[in-house]
Amino acid sequence: MPKTLHIANSLTRKKEEFKPIHEGRVGMYVCGPTVYNSVHLGNCRTFMSFDVIYRYLMHLGYKVRYVRNITDVGHLVGDSDDHDAEDKISKRARIEQIEPMEIVQKYTVGFHEKMQLFNCLPPSIEPRATQHIIEQIEMVQQIIDNGYGYEKNGSVYFDTIKFAKESGVYGKLSGRILDDLISESRDNLKNQSEKNHPADFAIWMKAAPEHIMRWNSPWSEGFPGWHLECSAMSTKYLGKTFDIHGGGNDLKFPHHENEVAQNHGACGCHPANYWLHTNMLLMNGAKMSKSVGNTITPDELIGGDSHLISKGYSPMVIRFFNLQAHYSSPLDLTDEGLQAAEKGYRRLMEANKTLQAFTHPDGGSDGALNSEIAKLIAETEEEMNDDFNTPKALAKLFELASKINGLKDGHLDWEALADDTLANLKQLYQSYIFDIFGLKEEGESGGDNGVLSGVMELVIDLRQNARANKDWGTSDKIRDKLNELNVVLKDWKDGTSWSVN
Ligand code: AMP
Ligand code: ZN
Repeated sequence: MPKTLHIANSLTRKKEEFKPIHEGRVGMYVCGPTVYNSVHLGNCRTFMSFDVIYRYLMHLGYKVRYVRNITDVGHLVGDSDDHDAEDKISKRARIEQIEPMEIVQKYTVGFHEKMQLFNCLPPSIEPRATQHIIEQIEMVQQIIDNGYGYEKNGSVYFDTIKFAKESGVYGKLSGRILDDLISESRDNLKNQSEKNHPADFAIWMKAAPEHIMRWNSPWSEGFPGWHLECSAMSTKYLGKTFDIHGGGNDLKFPHHENEVAQNHGACGCHPANYWLHTNMLLMNGAKMSKSVGNTITPDELIGGDSHLISKGYSPMVIRFFNLQAHYSSPLDLTDEGLQAAEKGYRRLMEANKTLQAFTHPDGGSDGALNSEIAKLIAETEEEMNDDFNTPKALAKLFELASKINGLKDGHLDWEALADDTLANLKQLYQSYIFDIFGLKEEGESGGDNGVLSGVMELVIDLRQNARANKDWGTSDKIRDKLNELNVVLKDWKDGTSWSVN
C-alpha cells in the first residue's frame, strides 16, 4: 500500500513526492486574513482546506508547526504608491468611529469564532504583523545591504528588475514573464514618481501625517509593505527555507511572488519547497469577493439570511460541501450543491453510527467481502496521498457506506466480515470523518461523547410532541429555557436543528 504523499507544487507545476526538510517534522506557513472586516465564506474555504491538509499531515505522523499570520497593519486602499491613500484598517476605524486597534481586535475575535464554528484547529503559532515590526525593519535592512533595495524620500523599494535579471527566479511562481515586466515598466515609467520601475514594490513606506499606524525606522516614520510581514514571520518561526507555503491562488501575484523575491533578497534562498494554492469559492460563476459585492458570510449562510440561498445550512454541512471539491479546483456555492452536501453529510454520519454500533460476537469469516473492503480502505488512503484529494477519498467512503448499509439491511452478511477487517473499517471511518475531515456530529459540543446530542435529540422530540398536541406553552417554555442557556433552536420544513451560541 503506497503511503507516499504527493503534492502538486505550484512552483514547479508538477506533482512531487513530499519530502520534508527535517524527517518527521513539517513547517507550514499559510497567509492569514487581513482583519479589517468580517471573513466571508470564500476566505473560510481557503482556511478550511488548509485545516484538512494540516490534519492529514498529522494523521500521517508528522509533527507539524503550522504558522498562520494575522495581517493587522493597514495596507493602502487603491494605489499602493499613493502615500496619501488611507489604509483599510484606519478607514474602517473612521467609519465605525473606534481606534484602529479596536478594529483589529474585533475582527480577529470574529475570525477565530468562525474558525471554531467550522471546527478548524488553531494554528501552532498565529503571529501578528504589528508585533513583528522589528523583524520587518531588519529584513528591509538586509535587502538594502544585499543591493536589492533602495530608499527614496523615506520609503524603501525592492528593485524587482535587478533581482529578476540576476536571479532568474522572479515570475516563476505566478508564471509572469520577465520581458513583459520590463516592457510594462518602460510603458508605465512616466507615471511613477518615486520608484525606478513600476514593477518595484514598497517594502517600507513613509507615512503621511494623518496615517495613524506608524513606527520609527532608519528611513522614516512609516509602516512595512504588505508582502514583507509574511517573509519576516515565516523566516522567524520556520527558518529561511521551510516545507509548505500556502494561501489562496489570488495571492500568487503579487503577494507570493514578492515574498519569494524578498526572501531571496534578504536571505539568499527560496523560502518554501512546496507552494500550495487553494482555488476560489465562486458565487454564480464569479469569485466571491468584497469588491464584486457577491459575498456571503458564515452567519448569513447558516441563518439562511441571504437572497442567494433558499434556506440555512449548518456549519458541518458547509464543511462537508467544501470537501466535495479538490482544494485546487474552483467551487461554486449553489443551493443544489449545499443540499447535496446536506444529504451526503447525513448519510456518512449515519453509516458511521451503524458501523460503530456493530459488534461481532463470534468473529467473522474470511470471505470475498473482506478483500473488497480492504481494497476500498487502501484506495481511500491513496486518494488522500494524491495531493489531498478529498472528493475522491469521500467517494471511497461512500462506496464503503453502501457496504455498511448492505450489512445493515441484510443484503450482506456481517458474519462474512473478519474481525480485523471490521476493526480496520471502524478505524478508517472514525479517523477520516473526525480527525482528518474535521467533521463533528452536528450540535455536538465536543468532549461529551455525544451525551449532549442525545439529550438534545430527546428535548427536541418532546417539543415536537408538544407542538403536535398544540401545547404551545410547553413548546415555547422549552425554546425559552434553551435560549437562556445559549442553545438556539431553528425549525426547518423537515425538522429542527440546534446550535450553541
Ligand atoms: P484576505 O483577508 O482578503 O487576504 O483573504 C484571506 C484568504 O482568503 C487569502 O488566502 C485569500 O486568497 C483567500 N480568499 C479570498 N477570497 C477567496 C475566495 N473567493 N475563495 C477562496 N479563498 C479566498
Ligand atoms: Zn502572506
